Amino acid sequence: MPLPSALNLLELSFKDLEVLLVEQGLRPAHAKPLFQAMHHRASANLKGDEGGNFPAPLQRWLEANLGGRLRHDVLMPRQGQVSGDALAQKHLLALEDGQEIETVLMTYAQRHTVCVSTQVGCAMGCVFCATGQMGFVRHLRAGEILAQVHLARRLLATQGQRLRNVVFMGMGEPLHNYDEVIKALHLLLETRGANLGAEHISISTVGVVPGILRLARERQPCNLAVSLHGSSEEERAKLIPVNQRWPLSELMAACRQYQQLTGKRIFFAWTLIEGINDHPEQAQRLIALLRGIDAHVNLIPLNETAGYQGRESAEDSCSRFHRLIQQAGIACTIRQRRGIDVAAGCGQLKAQRRPRQRAEPQQGEEPIAG
Ligand code: SAH
Ligand code: SF4
Repeated sequence: MPLPSALNLLELSFKDLEVLLVEQGLRPAHAKPLFQAMHHRASANLKGDEGGNFPAPLQRWLEANLGGRLRHDVLMPRQGQVSGDALAQKHLLALEDGQEIETVLMTYAQRHTVCVSTQVGCAMGCVFCATGQMGFVRHLRAGEILAQVHLARRLLATQGQRLRNVVFMGMGEPLHNYDEVIKALHLLLETRGANLGAEHISISTVGVVPGILRLARERQPCNLAVSLHGSSEEERAKLIPVNQRWPLSELMAACRQYQQLTGKRIFFAWTLIEGINDHPEQAQRLIALLRGIDAHVNLIPLNETAGYQGRESAEDSCSRFHRLIQQAGIACTIRQRRGIDVAAGCGQLKAQRRPRQRAEPQQGEEPIAG
């Protein structure tokens, strides 16, 4: 049977892979070696490195079809940069349509974390974020998200190391691209594949309320991080325009509901900007906002971006803010920064080529099914 239109093998579930192989006149048993090569060994080249290990009919089918309508590895590494302390590597990757994304591999206490992009650009327009400053270009497909994780796993394997954590905190807003992100999440959890634990995968959102509620309803197995940065409607709206659409009050109600349904601790990110959101009064308001929620607050000193004038908070303001949150009995850490010298820090990721348009989410348009 001819293949349907372009198909990326990497984004098929095990079951769908079996179905495809049978439709193609192959045996369902061929799904296992193929799935393992792609997802367990993170092979970059199914025809070359792996070909010899496959049953002959599967190998012939791959040779005949891969590169045509059938795809597997869809990322072309363009440039890699390593930070001075060697604890962060940033990779610029080209997609098949020529768009570019960035992926960051970080090391904390000998543990490796990959920070993956979920969109080219971002529609949310947070003023201090380089991705937001470039506007929205398009969503990534699950295969394009997964390929970033597999690239990191291959790089680590060459050093005898293993990937521990995946964070959906690169370019883009994961909950604006819900279906593809969740498809990628489930493939990462597959025991026959990468077999990552749900506790090692985190999705960070700017506060897309319908997406948070959907994660809760569907009991999606991952951690949730929510970017707050402001503890009043006005202050938050100045930094995060989509606060107009999903106000802080609704966001906090959604977080409470999420916690009620899942019983999970929620991580809250707070980018510290000098004179903007680092005052003790603002810390007190944050404490009040989090009352009754099992929360962990991550403080991130602002990283510089070309399109925003704000400065990172001074060290003593950061520690004062940190102390106040902790004294209120809320778990709080100042995030160790990684890769600032190669612009691989939070909010510094952007494509090198400028996209053509800016696409703000429209009032009344639901970006994701709620
Ligand atoms: N869109 C999602 C995930 C990607 S951004 C979100 O906003 O949560 C990942 C984190 O980096 C967010 O907490 C975001 O607020 C933070 N961030 C963005 N720009 C930053 C900057 N310039 N300095 C420090 N943190 C920044
Ligand atoms: Fe998008 Fe997150 Fe950047 Fe805001 S901080 S513009 S939501 S990537």
